[in-house]
Amino acid sequence: MSRVLLITGASRGIGAATAVLAAQQGWAVAVNYTRDAQAADHVVQEIRAQGGQAQAFQADVGIEADIDRLFKSVDKEMGLLGGLVNNAGVLDVTARVDNTSWERLERIMRINVLGSFACAKQAVLRMSTAHGGKGGSIVNLSSAAAKLGAPGQYVDYAASKGAIDTFTIGLAKEVAAEGIRVNGVRPGLILTDIHASGGIPDRAHQLAHQVPMQRPGTAMEVAQAIVWLLSDAAAYVTGTNIDVGGGR
Ligand code: NAP
Repeated sequence: MSRVLLITGASRGIGAATAVLAAQQGWAVAVNYTRDAQAADHVVQEIRAQGGQAQAFQADVGIEADIDRLFKSVDKEMGLLGGLVNNAGVLDVTARVDNTSWERLERIMRINVLGSFACAKQAVLRMSTAHGGKGGSIVNLSSAAAKLGAPGQYVDYAASKGAIDTFTIGLAKEVAAEGIRVNGVRPGLILTDIHASGGIPDRAHQLAHQVPMQRPGTAMEVAQAIVWLLSDAAAYVTGTNIDVGGGR
């Protein structure tokens, strides 16, 4: 199996931690980012300093043409793809459904749902034995919000992750006999910058009392589950979700 892994949204947070850990386990990592080239380069340099292989690729997974360009660039510069982590995801500021604009919904669904579908499509075209590929593994980032619903905060984001859960189940069954495993990870409250984009930078600490383990998680704790699902150690695991949420 090819050891080239593409991680969307890997310039910081869970994606960056996954890139570093995957590289330590032998993956050559394509580090995708949208805006922050410096942050992506920092991840690449950290991996190279540890003797690993990595390269940064700019692309917005909310734009189909960007996704096509991203996969072609990875083909050309890194070789045959063996893994994909659909990690890039966005939320918006706290809002009830009755105060939600069409533009907001469109952005969240386009990046979180359509982007994950379109990236998986490109990965399947390269990895499926039905298309002449050699197999591979896909991990989709869902969220505990898919089960909790995030009322009064961002039901739209939660619903986009509910769609990802269903996508994981369906795609896993569709390509199971073609050498591709598809799984999901549902992080709980994790210490990353995503909470600042929701207008509450300290959200993970503020809500820690709701977590049975009484603390937020780290990006590396989520990365551990993602990299395990990608690995041959999970060879008989497909169509499932791992909750990494401290019991929440
Ligand atoms: P984060 O810290 O906000 O990082 C998001 C990453 O995604 C950045 O690298 C960003 O790159 C990239 N990105 C954003 N929009 C993109 C786009 N349109 N195309 C390509 N890349 C894009 O997020 P995180 O907390 O690590 O979350 C990672 C995943 O876990 C997301 O799917 C999120 O929904 C999920 N999750 C997180 C938590 C949590 O508590 N943190 C909980 C549950 C689920 P730039 O900076 O270059 O734009």
